[in-house]
Amino acid sequence: MKYLITGAAGFLGVNLALRLLREGHEVIGLDNYHSGTEKNISLLKKWEKFKFIKHDVINAYDIPCDVVCNLACPASPPHYQKDPIYTLKISVLGTLHALENAERHKALLLHASTSEIYGDPLVHPQTESYLGNVNTTGPRACYDEGKRAAETLCADFTRLGRVDARLVRIFNTYGPFMRDDDGRVVTNFIIQSMNNTPITIYGKGQQTRSFCFVDDLIEGFIRVLALPSNQGPINLGNPNEFTMLELAAEVQRLIGSNQPFSFQPMPIDDPRQRQPDITKAKKFLQGWEPKIQLSEGLSKTIEYFKNENK
Ligand code: UDP
Repeated sequence: MKYLITGAAGFLGVNLALRLLREGHEVIGLDNYHSGTEKNISLLKKWEKFKFIKHDVINAYDIPCDVVCNLACPASPPHYQKDPIYTLKISVLGTLHALENAERHKALLLHASTSEIYGDPLVHPQTESYLGNVNTTGPRACYDEGKRAAETLCADFTRLGRVDARLVRIFNTYGPFMRDDDGRVVTNFIIQSMNNTPITIYGKGQQTRSFCFVDDLIEGFIRVLALPSNQGPINLGNPNEFTMLELAAEVQRLIGSNQPFSFQPMPIDDPRQRQPDITKAKKFLQGWEPKIQLSEGLSKTIEYFKNENK
């Protein structure tokens, strides 16, 4: 099969590409290095069946393929807020162009949506039927509303019979090939602890997230693509929920750092809690559920960053 991955230089892009290449597929990677890295693409270029095209997905393209995996978009709050109008364009125009390319080539499409479409959720844990609580004008809106509009495009293309667009709502995911300056919590805590500097806790650290190791997520992607028919949006994430204080303590324990925490202001509209309800994923994806729990996943990620910094 020939897979087109938009955002191939990014964290999820490179992990998905490696999985597909190992299985013998052809992969075409698209990226403009807005948030992905050339280092990730250099690694993929070692594979004969990988081809890279430098392209900004806010512009249309025409690339024959069997499957389009639409992953292009910065996902870390500091990155997507740096150029919010561009973030909205990537989400909306990038998804439109992915859908048009899929339609032209009769390809299946996988769209990387996000738990951010639930905003600061009033229902806990979040099921796919929960419609969300999003501030349309806040600093996170460029990403949240962009991703909501992208889901609408996918749903309409599907409803109109133009593309079979599969929607996965990705909850906080971490693992190898993240940038060390990604700015999200797992990498910040790991890099700070490896440098033996204080961990930055935003607010009081009582807000929660549920962290999924990337290999579990990629397995979910593969199973969603293998579904005989479109089942609408599917949450993918690890339902084990931790406060940021608990995460910080676990990272320090694994690295052996004991710096005091540095408490910083809470970012605007930062969701207070987040946990996926994965009943639907389990039901439709042959019992899919995350296999790698936090300490094992963190250890693998720490190992990756240690090797990168050698
Ligand atoms: N956070 C933190 N310290 C950091 C980075 C993030 O306490 O150095 C908190 C942030 O306020 C949020 C949670 O960790 O409540 C997850 O943030 P992240 O940016 O990883 O992703 P989000 O789930 O908010 O998109």
